[in-house]
Amino acid sequence: MTQQTRANRIGPAGVMPHGLMFHHFHGPQHSKSQGSIDAETFDRILGHYAASHVLLDAADYLERARSGGLGSRDVCITFDDSLLCQYDIARPVLDRHGLRAFWFVYSSVINGGIESLEIHRRFRSEHFADIDSFYAAFFDTLGKTRYAAIVDRALQDFRADTYLAEFSVYSDADKRFRYVRDHVLQAQEFGEVMSSMIAAAGTSTAELARGLWMSRDELLRLDAEGHVIGLHSHSHPTTISRLPAETQYHEYAENHRVLSEILGKPPCTMSHPCNSYDARTLQALKALGIDLGFRSNMAGTAVTALEHPRDDHAEIVRRIGLSRQP
Ligand SMILES: [Zn+2]
Repeated sequence: MTQQTRANRIGPAGVMPHGLMFHHFHGPQHSKSQGSIDAETFDRILGHYAASHVLLDAADYLERARSGGLGSRDVCITFDDSLLCQYDIARPVLDRHGLRAFWFVYSSVINGGIESLEIHRRFRSEHFADIDSFYAAFFDTLGKTRYAAIVDRALQDFRADTYLAEFSVYSDADKRFRYVRDHVLQAQEFGEVMSSMIAAAGTSTAELARGLWMSRDELLRLDAEGHVIGLHSHSHPTTISRLPAETQYHEYAENHRVLSEILGKPPCTMSHPCNSYDARTLQALKALGIDLGFRSNMAGTAVTALEHPRDDHAEIVRRIGLSRQP
């Protein structure tokens, strides 16, 4: 029996094993950003889940996923995007709960590389009073570029109520921005607009990159402590499913190579960056020997080995009435 058929028996959406998905944390040395949470909120989320679910160590969740032994209330903790704030702020809380997590790492940043998505996020949270001021400045700058007409035309047909409808944490303004970033502008064109805003604000990419990502030292320590490190692509494309099969394979093969070299063993788990994947992505992951993969939401029909659902921490915070951080 394949893992996929085993996993399919778990049942429909609703009560089913899943991951809790965490991204940004704020606290000492790490500033607040859109949707970030502090150590206390993380602690309360774990407490809340422990009351109604079974919080499993990542290695246990993986073993049970492989053997078809996951119970409907089994959950695991997952961190995406190789962020140092997760290591600095969430790891001590996990230690107090005696829990070990999955850490899904995109590798381009581990050896000193830069990933612009995260740089841009930091820029907008540290240089603007709120997210709407950033969006206003972005569309203002964009309006003065040669892309103004294309964007105007694309936005005439844009429907915020149907775009990214499965992600209820996004406001209409968030969706409009993401639509322009991911579907109207080419990555390089978007980068051009952002670079001119960063320069105009008197900062730089190098300055914004400081202290953002983990390095190999943190990964080695997590691994030694029993956490599970998995793939999240090499350079974190926002829509990997739009890339040719060969490029998709390369994204994960390179990610696999870098992590294998650091950890001295091949990774066998992953999460899909921005929830983007297609049949070719899943094929590439199978070819690389990946046994367990996670989506970025609780939507979807069947649970397959490479598409375990995850509950977004922003959703959890909203649902259980913990104060939403800016
Ligand atoms: Zn990601």
